[in-house]
Amino acid sequence: MQKTIAIVGAGLGGLTLARVLQTHGVAATIYEGEASATTRAQGGLLDIHEVTGQVALRAAGLYEEFRTLVRPGEDAKRVVDRHGTILFDMPADPGSARPEVDRGELRRLLVDSLTPGTIRWDHKVTSVRHLPEGGYVLTFAEGSATRADILIGADGAWSRVRPLLTPAKPVYSGTCFIEIALASGVQDCQASVAAIGSGTLMAVAPDKGIIAHRYADGHVRGYVALNKPEEWMRSIDFGDPSAGLRQLADEFDGWSPLLTAILTQSDVKPWLRPIYALPVGLTWDRVPGVTLVGDAAHLMSPFAGEGANLAMYDGADLASKLVEHSDIEVALTAYEERLFPRSGDAASRSAQNLEIFFGQEAPQSVVNLFDHS
Ligand SMILES: Cc1cc2nc3c(=O)[nH]c(=O)nc-3n(C[C@H](O)[C@H](O)[C@H](O)COP(=O)(O)OP(=O)(O)OC[C@H]3O[C@@H](n4cnc5c(N)ncnc54)[C@H](O)[C@@H]3O)c2cc1C
Repeated sequence: MQKTIAIVGAGLGGLTLARVLQTHGVAATIYEGEASATTRAQGGLLDIHEVTGQVALRAAGLYEEFRTLVRPGEDAKRVVDRHGTILFDMPADPGSARPEVDRGELRRLLVDSLTPGTIRWDHKVTSVRHLPEGGYVLTFAEGSATRADILIGADGAWSRVRPLLTPAKPVYSGTCFIEIALASGVQDCQASVAAIGSGTLMAVAPDKGIIAHRYADGHVRGYVALNKPEEWMRSIDFGDPSAGLRQLADEFDGWSPLLTAILTQSDVKPWLRPIYALPVGLTWDRVPGVTLVGDAAHLMSPFAGEGANLAMYDGADLASKLVEHSDIEVALTAYEERLFPRSGDAASRSAQNLEIFFGQEAPQSVVNLFDHS
């Protein structure tokens, strides 16, 4: 009898895992806390790397469909200082090895590729328990429970499955992002939108930055980044969004109005995204029948652009090991032997890049990074 596989979390990692298993005729069930695929906006661009994300999409049999989602021309990158002076300007590359796609569209592709009923939406896992006879019991927020032989935590930063393997917890990196966007207000900020260029603008200085992406349809989405202690986040009140944005703008005193307008004219509810990371090089001892993929295993700052790529790659790699080896422990050992060095390298680069972006040498350190990549 085939063993039952429970995947907690329908992010890019869990979805890729389920999809690759299904392409090999292996069933799995995903338990997802959100009520549906559209509950939470998934916006933002991801560049999908040739050696990780694209490999995973090929394994999932979705590479050709992925190519139809690529946004050519949006991978341009520009670095400016606080005055808006351009220090680095890389035009879009139509043949880029790291094409950009919209995260929501990519997730939709994966969701739609699964056999109907694979994802149990509205199933927030509140606890997981190892059974003495083997296997796991998952309990859900509304009180029901289910059993599975194999348990995979694909449940992101605050994984409920991770404590079965390690006591490690994410630690605040000291950098906080606040999501901003120009939707209807884009007409009033034409000069600022032009300053972004055709892709991503990075206006950086020690301890702060404004990062904005211009979509082909003209609208703009981005982040304000600030190095701040955790308590500072509690002092920002977005109950009145425009007052909150003004408070943020005070942090950019002396910056070019072309840049600060992207922030002050933002017309969506600002969203705080403190950047957390798990310890670099995190590993754990093998625990029968359970493992992690994606952020649950190796949450890192977004500054190597690897998190989503690795989540998909982990999912595809784990699926291939489960298909290859009939002995589950052999499969999970083989997966983790590759997972640990791969994620350790990326986490180390991400941590270094966070310092490069908002450390005391910015913006020149960012220019150097792009010049040498
Ligand atoms: C600001 C920002 C920018 C980024 N930019 C990039 C980038 O350019 N490139 C890149 O590669 N990466 C980027 N990342 C990182 C990337 O977003 C993550 O690494 C990636 O989403 C991880 O995928 P995942 O499937 O592991 O987890 P997630 O995407 O977090 O998915 C986890 C899923 O589990 C569900 N879940 C959580 N808890 C439970 C529970 N208890 N029960 C049931 N379901 C649960 C969640 O609802 C969610 O659907 C960025 C991250 C941030 C914060």
